[in-house]
This record gives sequence, structure tokens and C-alpha cells, in this order.
Amino acid sequence: MDWKAVLDSEFDIFEPIELAQQLVRIPSVSGETGEEEISRFIANYFIDRKITVEWQEVEKNRANVIAEVKGTLGEGPTLLFNGHMDTVPVGSGWTYPPLGGQIVGDKLYGRGACDMKGALAAMMYAAYTVSLFASQLYGSLKLLFVVDEERDNLGMKRWLESYLSSNEVVDFAVVGEPTGLNISLGHRGVAAYRVTVEGKASHAGLAEEGVNAIYIAASVIKDIESKNELLKKHADPDLGCPSLMVGLIEGGVSPNVVPEQCSFEVDVRTLPNFSLESMEKLLQDIVVEVRNRSNSPFSYRISQTVPHLPPAKVSRDLPAVEVLARSISQIPGEIPIFAPFPASCEASFLFNAGIPTVIFGPGRIVEAHSANEFVSTSQIVTASMIYALLALQFLGGD
Ligand SMILES: [Zn+2]
Repeated sequence: MDWKAVLDSEFDIFEPIELAQQLVRIPSVSGETGEEEISRFIANYFIDRKITVEWQEVEKNRANVIAEVKGTLGEGPTLLFNGHMDTVPVGSGWTYPPLGGQIVGDKLYGRGACDMKGALAAMMYAAYTVSLFASQLYGSLKLLFVVDEERDNLGMKRWLESYLSSNEVVDFAVVGEPTGLNISLGHRGVAAYRVTVEGKASHAGLAEEGVNAIYIAASVIKDIESKNELLKKHADPDLGCPSLMVGLIEGGVSPNVVPEQCSFEVDVRTLPNFSLESMEKLLQDIVVEVRNRSNSPFSYRISQTVPHLPPAKVSRDLPAVEVLARSISQIPGEIPIFAPFPASCEASFLFNAGIPTVIFGPGRIVEAHSANEFVSTSQIVTASMIYALLALQFLGGD
């Protein structure tokens, strides 16, 4: 079956763009008013198009929307499209109205345009076009749109609870976070450590009597920074490099007292071939090295402050990934490109539940959370076509 020709017969490129504009115009800041309205808008979109919808209450006035297009040919795989409906606050520094959904050239501006209402619109319209061919499909296409991704992932956690207690199996999931239409096969692991060094306090006038904990911490931090260069040789082609980054520091009591204590926190990114244990050992080695070359005695402790969200990735050879890559090549001018996704996202929850997951969506991650956030309208259209082709070819066979 030539699914591309089938899709072209029904696909209207203006629909996903208009839909993205409508979504941007509904404010849905995580945890504030509006979230219920966007859930309702999306649920109604599916209801109007005779697509089954489930309203999954997460908290008062906050609900996930789950839609399903069932193939009528019978049993088959389940494909899941996932996205979040909430956004970060609007913030300041905007030149365009942040809730206007204004289009200038190829750019659709607004809070959440790129992260990730453009992807939601692309997925919604893709689901609608796929539903027109349900009589030629097996299995099912599910859409899971969640609340609270930008805060505590309550929406995703609520869905996982219901998923894990059911006998439902999702065979492949796509998270629509902005990858610029590159395929990201997973993500690095993330955790954080607190390093505390202790020297000896003294009067600033007698600084040589003390051991300055801030100076020691500064040496350790300098060494941490330079280690990133070495870590590059452990890079994973699909996930990027392991890394260390100091993001917080506290120390001292007054400018006229040699500080006894200084603490700082280190964000660490891990890989399947560079584990959390290796990272912890590296941190330890850095501190010990500074102590060995220092003339002043100091003590230190290292404790983990953020639990490890482990790294995860799917293989490029997974049949569903091949179908996605093929769907991309069917769009004129597009070629499948595999690239790491630098941030972490809810893909990790899906991985943890044993669901093979990729991240693939319109827009660029650098635009997310910024003033004048925008998404490319042509990328919304292309994403929508690719989502639809993936579903048709994954559920429809040849
Ligand atoms: Zn996002």
C-alpha cells in the first residue's frame, strides 16, 4: 500500500498550523488556571471527530487527555504519541504577544509554541487523518497528553499508575519534545551530588592561621570544569557526552572571617557506558587529587542529592525506529537524522515502564522557555505528516 499517497489524499497542511495557534491562545501555565481549558479543548477536538477520549483526572481541575484510534482489522501493535499540555510561565522580554499565536514568516510565536503545542497540534491532526483509515489498520494509536510536565510530572505518574496496573502493552512511543525533526533515541542519565569541604576558620587579619574552604572548593571546581574535556572521549553517538556541571555554591559567613566550610552541588549526566558509580568515583578522585597537592589539610564529604534517573536508549535497528526513519524519507526534502536530545524529558518514565521510546518533534529545544518562543510552521506540518505516516505504516503493514 502506498500510504504516502493515501495520506496526501486527505492531508490539509493548514489544519495543524491553525490548531497550534488555537492551543497557544489558551494559557496553560503549569499549576495555574487554564490547564482545564486546554484539556477540554483537546478532548472536544477528538470528540468532534468521533475519536474515543478518556478524561483522566490528576488533581482538581487538572486532567490528562487520552485518545485512541482503534484499527478495525483486529489485534495489532499499540503506538503511543505523548506530549504535555502545560507550559512554563510567560516571563518577560517578549516582542510578540505571548498568547497571540501570531505567525510571522514561517514562525509561530507564543509561550508553549515550541514546547510543545506545535507537537500537540501535529499529533492531534495526525490522529484525525489516521482515524479516516481505521478500517485498514490493526492495533491502535493512542495519544497521551499530560499535565504538570514542567513541575512534578504528576500527569505522567498518574497515567503510569493506570498503565502498569492494566494489562495494556504499548509497543512503541514517540515523545514530541522539540528535536528539530531529528530522531533522538534516548537520553543521558541525570543525578546531582553535594560536595562539602571543611577547612579551618580564623580571623581575616590572620588568614594564614586558617584553611580557606572557599579556596579549596574553587580548586576542586576548576578541576571539575576541566574534566569535561576528558569526558568527551566517552561520548555515545546517540546520547552525547557524560558531563559534570557545578550549578550552586554556598560558603563563608563574613568577608572578615576565613571560611571554614564551603559546599557546592554538581549536576552529573551519565551514559550506559559511563555509570553513576564511575561519575561518583571521578568526583572523589578530583577532590583527593586537590588534597594531595594542597599544603593545607581539609576534610570533605560527598553525598548524592538527586536520585539517579538512569540513561536509556533504543536501538536504531528496532523495527518501529526503521518505520519512523522511512516515514521521514517519504517527505520530499527530508532525511532521517539521529541526534542526541540534550535535556531530560518524560521519555525516561516511559523507558522505566519498559516502553521503547524515541523523542521526535518540531521546533528547537533552544527556543523552549525563552522570550519570543516560536516554532517553525513548516516543521509542524512535516511533523504531522510523519506522525501520521508512522502510524499508518506501523499499524497498517505493507
Ligand atoms: Zn517540553
